[in-house]
Amino acid sequence: MERVDTLPYRIIMERASDRLMSMAELMEDHSFKKIPKDKIDYFIDESIKIGIETAINSMDKYKSLEEICEDKKIKVELDTTEYDFEMVKFRGKYKEEREKIIIYDGSIKRMEIAYRELGIRFLNYNNIYRILLAHELFHYMESKEIGNTYEKLDEVNVFRLGPIKKSYPIIKTSDIGANIFAKKFLNLSFNPKVLNYLYLWGTGIVDKNKLLDYYNELDERLKVYYLTNIEG
Ligand SMILES: [Zn+2]
Repeated sequence: MERVDTLPYRIIMERASDRLMSMAELMEDHSFKKIPKDKIDYFIDESIKIGIETAINSMDKYKSLEEICEDKKIKVELDTTEYDFEMVKFRGKYKEEREKIIIYDGSIKRMEIAYRELGIRFLNYNNIYRILLAHELFHYMESKEIGNTYEKLDEVNVFRLGPIKKSYPIIKTSDIGANIFAKKFLNLSFNPKVLNYLYLWGTGIVDKNKLLDYYNELDERLKVYYLTNIEG
């Protein structure tokens, strides 16, 4: 019989498909509820496509993140300030006006501790750093070269009373693209969005069953939207 690897984090990583993680990302958008059900797939698929294309184009030209930064003259700053507040929301940032990427050292350290808690050794400081940097590099390229993902995709209409119609872009599509870019460029076996969930688990904020419940919910939603589409 084959030996089954029982490290519990595996199921959380393996079930985190690109579609599932992209759905999770989309649900965090402020305008998620305004997206028509039959357009969910459109936002997921198109954002994934942009992330993959951008990665392939970059891989044609560059072998590493360092090469990209050097060629494009992007400054990367490691912010080692000891912040008092919970920093994990701020892992990296691309500062458009100053043309630099800031990566927060404290966040990486906390993430590393959380992953170690779960026995995930390959998510060490250096690898986490590279994933965050790749994510921010995608945002850099969006703003300088390829355009923001959410501006390339349709906006969603919000109908109000009367003749006034408003539409909003789905900002989170940029993060779907950034995660896919990082995955493809760094040749990762997992979608980097899963790092958020592993972090919550590793720090004890949620447990494995809660995460699996959430995955099931995402799966259900994806199925419903898929059915909406094929039924027209
Ligand atoms: Zn982002």
